[in-house]
Amino acid sequence: MRLAEIMALRQTICAGALVTLTERCPLRCAHCSSSSGPSGRELDGAALVRFGRTFTSDCRPEVLMLTGGEPLLRPDLVAETARTARVAGVRTAALSGAFFARDGRFPSLIWRAVRELDHLSLSLDVFHERMVARADVFQALRALLRHGIATSLHIAGTGRDDPYLVDVTADVTATFGADVPMLVSEIKPIGRAAGWARATPLADGAVAPCAMAAWPVIAVDGAVVACCNQDLVDGRVRPDHLRLGEITTTTWPAVAERANALPLLRMIRTVGPLHITDRAGAAGAGYCDTCHRLGELPDAAEWAARAGSGPVGELLQAAAIRRGQAGGPSAMVRRHGVGRYADLVGGQE
Ligand code: SF4
Repeated sequence: MRLAEIMALRQTICAGALVTLTERCPLRCAHCSSSSGPSGRELDGAALVRFGRTFTSDCRPEVLMLTGGEPLLRPDLVAETARTARVAGVRTAALSGAFFARDGRFPSLIWRAVRELDHLSLSLDVFHERMVARADVFQALRALLRHGIATSLHIAGTGRDDPYLVDVTADVTATFGADVPMLVSEIKPIGRAAGWARATPLADGAVAPCAMAAWPVIAVDGAVVACCNQDLVDGRVRPDHLRLGEITTTTWPAVAERANALPLLRMIRTVGPLHITDRAGAAGAGYCDTCHRLGELPDAAEWAARAGSGPVGELLQAAAIRRGQAGGPSAMVRRHGVGRYADLVGGQE
């Protein structure tokens, strides 16, 4: 499964789900959005596998994206999750910091898990390179390609003029051509980067649909939430309008039904939280922070219920999603990643 195929699904509601297998990671990158380190909570693996058995051939995500922390710290669970998901036709990808590649090769336990995957993306940036050499990551990519396992790089930097991004993207292209697509993103002021990375603020009231509210996220405590906002995933905030269930007590069809039908969530995808707040006559305070507070604003819930319910709400949401999908994966990266490198995501051929 190519990176472009995964990205093409990213704005389709419930076409994918992200799964936080663990908060642990043996690396300690200075920009880590989840502030992961050597200790942390683990997802209940048995509950995840039971939840995966509720996927059916006509109600399932297309792809599960396993993340962390470092998902390959739990290789047996990676393999079992991928095998379980495959029964219903779901493909599985993982995003790894490539900690295992330090000596340039895959340990056998990790290799067995990777062989069950449909895609493995590795992280590469100036911070990861302080702990895992670029040459070792390239070695791991060669092994994946030799065995026909689709791979890609998640590369992060400080923006279009970051000299590191210029250098690393040229190096990957010269070494692998189009065989290793790249998703190049800007480091956001989240997690360990909260104190130093910069955000681009949006004007109050802006119509700015949220593209991240399409795929449910299974948090490490088993909660299923509506998006990958780190405060929500870590459980620092859990407003009702962004909660979709718990893997111990719900099924994928129930999650998908709630994700599709909640009026407030529909309008977050259609016009974004700042516009909803504006329509409710309240002031915004940051994009996601405003979103977290929407349930506390009765006028916002009332407006969303009027605009987002029933077939009309469904049509408005579908039109917004179509606009977001126009131009394919590279257009999406142009809007949400570092535009200069958008075409490296692949899929233009
Ligand atoms: S705007 Fe809301 S739904 Fe979108 S990423 Fe932020 S918290 Fe999640």
